[in-house]
Amino acid sequence: MADKVVYLDNNATTRVAEEVFEEMKPYLTENYGNASSMHKFGGRLRHKIDHARQQAAALLGCEPDEIIFTSGGTESDTTALRGVLERSGQKQHLITTRVEHPAVRTTAKHLQKHGYRLTELPVDRYGRLDLDQLTKALTEDTALVSIMFANNETGVIFPIDKIARIVKSKEALFHTDAVQAIGKVPVNLKDTPIDLLSISGHKLHAPKGVGILYVRRGTSVAPLLVGGHQEFGMRAGTENIAGIVALGKACELAQQNLAEENQRVRALRDRLEKELLQKCPDARVNGDIEARLPNTANISFEYVEGEAILLLLDQVGIAASSGSACTSGSLEPSHVLRAMGIPFTAVHGSIRFSLSRYTTDKEIDCVIEHTPGIVKRLRELSPFGPDKDAAPAAPSDRAPQLTIE
Ligand code: PLP
Repeated sequence: MADKVVYLDNNATTRVAEEVFEEMKPYLTENYGNASSMHKFGGRLRHKIDHARQQAAALLGCEPDEIIFTSGGTESDTTALRGVLERSGQKQHLITTRVEHPAVRTTAKHLQKHGYRLTELPVDRYGRLDLDQLTKALTEDTALVSIMFANNETGVIFPIDKIARIVKSKEALFHTDAVQAIGKVPVNLKDTPIDLLSISGHKLHAPKGVGILYVRRGTSVAPLLVGGHQEFGMRAGTENIAGIVALGKACELAQQNLAEENQRVRALRDRLEKELLQKCPDARVNGDIEARLPNTANISFEYVEGEAILLLLDQVGIAASSGSACTSGSLEPSHVLRAMGIPFTAVHGSIRFSLSRYTTDKEIDCVIEHTPGIVKRLRELSPFGPDKDAAPAAPSDRAPQLTIE
């Protein structure tokens, strides 16, 4: 069953690379000690953590002691936002965008409820930010700006270098959620003045439950988890040695393969988009076509429900994601596509296909073969359409909203 799936949901999670699994295995079985132990059985594992820190630092262009291992993207994002604001003294203002992942958005809203001032920057119809609005939003009171590197739903990449320089010129700290960017596009912390950056292992072929928060030397951040002295006192808890070893290896592989893989993946993605747009009338690609992750295609098939497409794709063994979520009888479209002002008829029918280094030509052929027929069939059944009277329900902000990872 597992080997039959055409897996195009790699922005949700990725398969653990064989090389990564081989590397981590001994640290689950024979080398299961605690790296903080005095005895050799545990203590000798410390150098494996140091090695993983070096592998991650080499990928990012930073120093090993700027790498803090965490449990994943959500913890890294939460630590960045809460940890900076806890130490920000008089500065009480936080800036983010309307298209952040819930790990940032919900934390920011939580902080707002606790008295911090929050500005959420809008995006245009291509998912792009207006940097003048960022400049205007920055005040002497701004402690932190948190803007994602690449969007998980559309793949749109923000101009992080320019953003970081604007933020630093106003003496605020800059955090970027790079969970979807790392391993897909080059990121170099030597050239870009980023203060904090989040990574999640399971998005780059390491297992779930491990991540990184990069913290530039000299940046004041309070730990989220307190207790033991692990991770330079920045993240208490017995180290997840196997996960850390795995993430180190995944970073090394990403560094070795990034350029070559990206070209191949981009070509597959472009072929998929081109053929689907040719074969399906009333379909469009969402997001900036140029500044985009090479692996992500977010396509709206007007006048059909994304869930219905997903279900039928699933029946033929294709796994993807939709930009709307069916929750308790109501359809709530994605906050990202809504922020971009995409019409409801298009948001409802949006599907995200996300590829990886394991995606093959044959898999893309399979999606191209099945999707147009599925969309055609659903359109025939749909009450919506250019020549039909019904219109999909407008979203209600009160209804619960699921999001795609
Ligand atoms: N940030 C972004 C952009 C993501 O896409 C995700 C996961 O989908 C996260 C944060 C959360 O990462 P994790 O699943 O490791 O907690």
